[in-house]
Formats: sequence, C-alpha cells, structure tokens
Amino acid sequence: MTAFNTLDHASVSGKRVLVRVDLNVPMENGVVSDTTRIDRILPTLREISDKGGKVVLLAHFGRPKGVDPTQSLKPVAAEVALRLGRPVAFAAECTGPVAKAAVDAMKNGDVLCLENTRFHPEEEKNDPAFVAALAANGDIYVNDAFSAAHRAHASTEGLARVLPAYAGRTMQAEIEALSKALETPEHPVLAVVGGAKVSSKLELLGNLVKKVDILVIGGGMANTFLAAQGKAVGKSLCEHDLLDTARSVLATAKASGCEIVLPVDAVVASEFKAHAPSRTVSVDQVGEADMMLDIGAASVKTVAAKLATAKTLVWNGPFGAFELEPFDAGTNAVAREAAHLTKAGKLLSVAGGGDTVSALNHAGVADDFTYVSTAGGAFLEWLEGKPLPGVDALRVRKG
Ligand code: AMP
Repeated sequence: MTAFNTLDHASVSGKRVLVRVDLNVPMENGVVSDTTRIDRILPTLREISDKGGKVVLLAHFGRPKGVDPTQSLKPVAAEVALRLGRPVAFAAECTGPVAKAAVDAMKNGDVLCLENTRFHPEEEKNDPAFVAALAANGDIYVNDAFSAAHRAHASTEGLARVLPAYAGRTMQAEIEALSKALETPEHPVLAVVGGAKVSSKLELLGNLVKKVDILVIGGGMANTFLAAQGKAVGKSLCEHDLLDTARSVLATAKASGCEIVLPVDAVVASEFKAHAPSRTVSVDQVGEADMMLDIGAASVKTVAAKLATAKTLVWNGPFGAFELEPFDAGTNAVAREAAHLTKAGKLLSVAGGGDTVSALNHAGVADDFTYVSTAGGAFLEWLEGKPLPGVDALRVRKG
C-alpha cells in the first residue's frame, strides 16, 4: 500500500490544524437529523485537541450558489459541540479577517468551525489564491473526509499540496479497509452488485469483473442481465436498451475468469408496494404481469454457498426493493449470512455506496461487517477504479 502520513506522524501541539471534515449532514427544520457523519470524525477531533492542537474545521454544506445563510454550517457546528462534549466556536467566514481573528483567539486544544467553504465558487475550482487564503490560517492540514475525496476542490485537494498533510483517523480507516478489500485482498474475492439500474453502474461492473473472482448480480439490474439471456422479465424494472451492454459485461467476465452469479428464482408481485400479494417463481417462469422485486430462497441459498467459499466481500446495492416488506427478505438473508461469516473470522466484508448502508442497517447487521463506508460518491468511484484526488494528494511524495 502507498504510504500515507497519519496523525501518528503529525506533531500537532500548539499548531493550527486545518481539519477537512464531512459535515454535509441531513437537516430537518434546522436540526441535524442524522449524526453518523459527525460521530465518525469525533476520534480525530478529540485526538488533535487532547494533544494540544488547535482544531480548525473546514467543510462544505449543500450546494449554495454564493453566500446563502440557509446553508450555513452554524447549526451543524452546534451539533458537533454536543456530540463532542466540548465547546465549538464558529466563524462566519472561512477566509479573510473574520476567520483570522477567530483562529488567532484560539488556545491550544480549542475547536473552531469555519463557515461553509462552498460560499466561495473558488472552492470547487480549486483556485490557488483561495487555497492560499485557507492555508493562511493553518500550520498543518488533516483530511478526515474520505466522502469528499473524489472532488479535487481547494479544501479537499489543494490544501494537501501546500501544507504538511496527514490522513485523519476516519480517512485512515477507510483507506486501509478499501485497500484490503480490492487492492491487496485475500482471494477468492466476491462482489455483490445490486440496486436499481445497470446504467448507473456500468463503470463499476467493468472494473469489478476484472478484479474479483465471483460477481453476484442482484436487484433490478439483474433483470437486465436475465433479459439479455433471453428470459422473459414481465413488467420488471429492466433496461431493454442495455441488453448488448449486459452481454458485453458477461463476455468480459468470462475472458477475465470472473464467475457471474445471477438469480435463479424471484419473488414477483403485480404491484410495486409493501405487502403486495407475491409468490416465488423460477426466473424461467416470470409471467407478463409479474414484477421481480426480490431474489427468492433458492437464489439466497446459491449466494450463501458462494459466500462460504470467499475470503473477501465487497458489497454495493440491495438484492431487491428492500424498502418494501416483504421484498427486503433476500437482502436481509444474504446480509446476515455475510455478517455471520465475518463474525466467525472467515470473511473480510466491506460495503457502501448509495442505499447499501440503509439496507444493512435495515437488516440489523451494519455493525457486524468489517467496514461499512458512509461515503456515497467516493466509495462508488473507488469501486469504479478511479483515482480519488483527495486521497492521492495525501500520498507521501518521494524526493
Ligand atoms: P441503487 O441506488 O442503484 O443501489 O438502487 C437502490 C434501489 O434499487 C432501492 O431503492 C431498491 O428499492 C431498488 N431496487 C432493487 N431491486 C429492485 C427491483 N428488483 N425492482 C425495483 N427496484 C429495485
């Protein structure tokens, strides 16, 4: 694995530490409705503060077009203070005299949150003058926002080029878990790719078939693959214009020695709603009015048997319409099997992206996986094999 400097290598005492974090949390009526992202950064904040560093938080929030008080980080900073159990000061600017005065007033161990970096269009342009203005308030830079690392922005990438740069504890854990899963994994590696559509996961499928030993395809996207094999899919979600694409994924898999596992049976209903009357049929017996909304028990058994042979699991996307009971059963069953194998020390399991975290939470097993990434876009781009600028900028440069 490429070397990264982490907090183990940083001397933070008395230093102004610019810490890029993910505070892009969901809000309802001005109140943070899910604190998962805040909770993930607490170890890094505590560690720097306990070691006598001045913690200066940098983050974006929403997609403001210029300064927009409705997208201020102020209420989020208040929630960070609550979760951290320590005061968190707030500065209504992220650069300039207001930010400087707030940073100058800090004592060792203090925590300060600067205003939304995206109030400045220069943030997303990675503008060198804006990078310099941010850097003026820091001695070192710590990036703990893996979820923003697919963007080459001033606060996610530019700062790492101009200040001594370190991975925060969450970033470090994420990089280590993802490396173990796809870069230096123990084989066989099994990937589960589910979810709604093939079209949103083409690059991901293209990358995975070359890297993993077994690719299990589930969810709505499996219907497109079944149709590509000439099977009737009734009224199921299916991208009929992508049958050739699906065939070419199958051909690439074959050429790469990657085994593809498709559902052998499905739970079908004639309505897309919770508790719609349903029955399980073979994928060869899907009727004209049927919608395949989940994998059936025989498919669960097949996937479980494959999982038992794997050493590493990478999972993105549910096996069915898991938000609607009883079409969550297939996802729940496979998730519980993966959790069981992980707890028994037989499997390293990494999951993330889109609805996967909520699907695993729904199955009650998110804590039993080796690592669950809450980074949506960055996790997917990593699965697609794309470089992540925010991570690359942290790599130790030689010479
Ligand atoms: P994605 O964001 O691509 O991972 O897709 C997740 C969505 O796919 C969830 O909202 C599921 O309800 C939906 N989904 C999964 N399987 C099916 C299916 N067989 N038919 C319709 N929707 C599905």
